[in-house]
Amino acid sequence: MHLQPSGRPVAEILGDARSGERISAGDAHTLLEEGDLLELGLAAHEVRTRINDPGVATYNIDRNINYTNVCVYKCRFCAFYRPPGDPEGYVLGFEEIGRKIEETLALNGTGVLLQGGVHPDLPLSFYEDLLGYIRESYPAIHLHAFSPPEVRFVAKKERLSFYEVIARLKKAGLMSIPGGGAELLSDGVRKEVLAYTKVSAEEWIEVMRQAHANGLRTSATMMYGMGEPLEARVEHLQRIRDLQDETGGFTAFISWTFQHEHTDMEDVPETYAHEYLKTLAVTRLFLDNIQHLQTSWVTQGKKIGQLGLMFGADDMGSIMIEENVVSAAGTSYRMSQDEMEHLITSAGYSPRQRTNLYERWVTREETIELAERYRHALTSQNQDLASPLPIVG
Ligand code: SF4
Repeated sequence: MHLQPSGRPVAEILGDARSGERISAGDAHTLLEEGDLLELGLAAHEVRTRINDPGVATYNIDRNINYTNVCVYKCRFCAFYRPPGDPEGYVLGFEEIGRKIEETLALNGTGVLLQGGVHPDLPLSFYEDLLGYIRESYPAIHLHAFSPPEVRFVAKKERLSFYEVIARLKKAGLMSIPGGGAELLSDGVRKEVLAYTKVSAEEWIEVMRQAHANGLRTSATMMYGMGEPLEARVEHLQRIRDLQDETGGFTAFISWTFQHEHTDMEDVPETYAHEYLKTLAVTRLFLDNIQHLQTSWVTQGKKIGQLGLMFGADDMGSIMIEENVVSAAGTSYRMSQDEMEHLITSAGYSPRQRTNLYERWVTREETIELAERYRHALTSQNQDLASPLPIVG
């Protein structure tokens, strides 16, 4: 994998990307190093309007449910986990998870993302039972669950292949797999930040390959800004593009910047908007085989998140009814559906709520019936996120 700057002029690389020619990892490195922010943005926006509806920006409504914060790993960038035996460790009961799903439905939500901690004692049957419970109780909800580190751990624990574990989870109700645990798919960095043992770059890719072989779609993610060299970001993008060439199983690419508060890496300087937008634009230019790119208002704030829609992104991600991992590291933003739509409209696009796998747009009429049925589940914490009910009669 050639990751060093290609040496080609920036204008030539941008010209290629604009005309639909594939650029190399070395070209991406050159753009990150030498590209002008606005020129990158213009080129990325041109590509984005070619491959996605130019008048529309999408979002979804789902909820992150962190069913446990107990984790056998100690990633240095993580402020969320508690080691086994810690008094602050928890595993949510199924009914508690059900209550959170009801709240999600009450807020016009269409899906949940279930993700841990990698708990040492939970067997595969726990995950199957959990999926089965949700499938049975809330058949309308999309189940996007268990990222590669969890799948890998369960596979080792049960002495099964990645393929077999995913097949069992799919049978129990799993509908897609989130791209969590990727951070940067570059083993030098992974060893540095203590993320290598939970899943190596190749293992992460292999779990996703086996998910796609099982017929499941997945997302791909990238967390950067941990003091890594640019080669690591470029290697990450190359690995994702290669697998997408092979399987076509990624629906979207979601990247965000490392949030350092309360982590073991508080001394790492923050990644600000300029670098974030530049990286987003280069990602759009390089990943020519992944249709959807999300902008990260959760880590960059609402205004920069909105600006991301001009730097290659076509999707604002979720309204984030609940988010525990980034907020444990000191960053906490949330918004209602109405605010999300306002942000998109004022950026010049028509807002559309989408399904979790981007298959189609969702109308309010579709979600309102379920929302009304579960209105009782709203708590004082989430009441402010609810859209007013239409006046009937
Ligand atoms: S990032 Fe995930 S795997 Fe790493 S310590 Fe935190 S919860 Fe555990």
